[in-house]
Formats: sequence, C-alpha cells, structure tokens
Amino acid sequence: PFDVLIVGGGPAGAAAGIYTARKGFRTGIAAERFGGQVLDTMGIENFISVPYTEGPKLARALEAHVAENGIDVMNLAEAERLIPAKKPGGWHEVVLKNGATLSARAVVLATGARWRNLGVPGEFEYRNRGVAYCPHCDGPLFKGKRVAVIGGGNSGVEAAIDLANIVGHVTLIEFDSQLRADQVLQDKLRSLPNVDIRMSAQTTEITGNGERVSGLLYKNRVSGQEQKIELEGVFVQIGLVPNTEWLKDSGLELSSYGEIVIDHKAATNLPGVFAAGDVTTVPYKQIVIAMGEGSKAALSAFDYIIRNAPA
Ligand code: FAD
Repeated sequence: PFDVLIVGGGPAGAAAGIYTARKGFRTGIAAERFGGQVLDTMGIENFISVPYTEGPKLARALEAHVAENGIDVMNLAEAERLIPAKKPGGWHEVVLKNGATLSARAVVLATGARWRNLGVPGEFEYRNRGVAYCPHCDGPLFKGKRVAVIGGGNSGVEAAIDLANIVGHVTLIEFDSQLRADQVLQDKLRSLPNVDIRMSAQTTEITGNGERVSGLLYKNRVSGQEQKIELEGVFVQIGLVPNTEWLKDSGLELSSYGEIVIDHKAATNLPGVFAAGDVTTVPYKQIVIAMGEGSKAALSAFDYIIRNAPA
C-alpha cells in the first residue's frame, strides 16, 4: 500500500509525486503512458526558464527527476476504477486493467485530457508540421503566416482573436451555420481586418507538400462545392476531452464537460481524493500550470494525511 497514489504520469502527476515523495511519503505513480501529452509535442517555448525544449526531452527529464525521488512508477498501467475510502483516513482503491488493485491513503488524479481530432486525411501526417492544437504554445511559430482555426465555439474564436494579433491572416472555419462563441467574442472577431469567417464549412482534408501543411480543403455544406484555401498552419479547436470515463461511477463530482471539479486547494468532493492538471476544471491547460497544480494537490494530500488518523 502507498501513502499517496498518483494516477497519471504527465507533468501534473510527476510534480505531485516529487512533492509527496519529498515529504517522506511512500508514493506510487500509475500511468498508462508516462510523459503524457508532452510525448506528442515537438518544440516547447513556454516552459518558463527553459527558452526551448522538445517534448520527448522534457518527458525524459520528468522521468529522471521522479526516479531520483524513489517513487514507484508503474508505466503502461491503465486505471479502470476508483473505489474511494468509506470514511476519512480510510484506504482508497484503484483497480488497474491488468487486474491489480492498488491502495493508498490519499489519491491524486492526474489523467489529463486529449484534443478531439477532426479525423480527416492529413491531420495526423502533418501534426507538429503545421497542424497544431494549442494557440498559446504554437501561435508564435506562425508569425506573419496564413492559418486556419477550425471550430467556432469559445475556444476556436478566442484562438482566432489571439492568432490574428500574431500571424498574417486567419480563416475561421465553422461546420455549423452559426458560431457558438459568446457574442462579445464574435463581435471582437468580426472587427478584425485580417480574419475571414467561413460558415457551414466541413473540413475534408489538410493538404501538404510532404514536409509541411500547404492548404486545406472544405466542403460548403449548403452548395456542396469544394473549396481550397492555401495556408501554412491549421489550429484544430473542436474540443479538449478530459480522461475521466473511468471515474464515472466513483461518486466523484464532474463538470458538464466531464472535468473533475476541484477547489482552490485541488480537493475534489471525495475526502482524500485530489486532482490536478488538464483533467480538472482548472482553466488554461498548459505544462507549467499542470506542474503547479500537481504540486498543490500533493501538498493538500500531505495536509489531509497528517490531519486524518488511519481509519
Ligand atoms: P497529460 O499530459 O495529459 O498526462 C496524463 C497522464 O495520465 C498520462 O501519463 C496518461 O497516460 C495518463 N492516463 C490517462 N488515463 C489514464 C488511466 N485511466 N489510467 C492511468 N493513467 C492514465 N503545453 C505547454 O505548456 N506548452 C506547449 O508548447 C504545449 N504544446 C502542446 C502540443 C501538443 C501537440 C499537445 C497535445 C499539448 C501541448 N501542450 C503544451 C499542453 C500540455 O501538454 C498539457 O497541458 C499537459 O501535458 C497537461 O499535463 P497533465 O499531467 O495534466 O496531463
């Protein structure tokens, strides 16, 4: 049994583990894929104090830092059920897909999220070579260039407003016949001189020259006509899905988007169960934020354990 079990091995989980291990707590990390989304990232230019790094390099650094603190890392360990303690101080159980059951006095959930994909030809092939998902991360790489943002909800319209300030031209592509973003954002978007909006537009392919993205094809859903746009970048903004499917019947409170609801101390509605990073309701999904939140969840787990005698 562990004092603290962390589920998820991305930046949030790694940070949580290092903090609880440094408190002298027996700490375990169970992760389906240690490193998390960072493994799918190429250039990272906003990891503060490190002007440039790459995802796989940062993931190796996380692994080394975790290993130095004597944490029991279970990689390729997918959790499929959380059975919370019956009373404060009791043991929580996490059941893994491989049949094992892990128990701990406090649990930190850090299972992250995944970007919803378009599922069109070219999207996967040109990922990190023109296809991007995070405007805060990759916007500056397209300085002065032409990009499209796919998705007209709040995140898509915010991304288009953000990018219009950095890139040369933005085309916002919305599948529906209207944008779903808040009116104030729509008004702001429409006031920008270097933004085009295409409605009722279904993206059918992201094209490239073998090296990088060169354009995008979409079908006008009213006329049925295919259109082509030449551009250098495509930001897909059709949703970020939290990895909480496995928690559905645990009694844990989830938001309408499926995120774990946490308070300012990273506590969930279940005593002794904390959560951190992209899987939670915390706004803005970024590496530095996930690390800060993981550290916070770990300190809250420490506080919980010293205040609750084993039950
Ligand atoms: P994640 O990184 O998603 O990690 C989740 C962990 O939980 C993984 O180990 C996963 O395998 C595991 N897991 C999931 N389900 C289970 C389960 N049932 N059982 C066990 N383990 C499970 N942010 C930046 O700050 N800068 C950037 O430049 C940047 N670029 C990005 C580029 C791309 C292509 C992507 C996809 C994201 C980028 N981000 C960037 C966002 C950043 O990667 C995330 O905000 C950050 O990784 C979130 O950390 P996390 O620990 O909360 O979750």
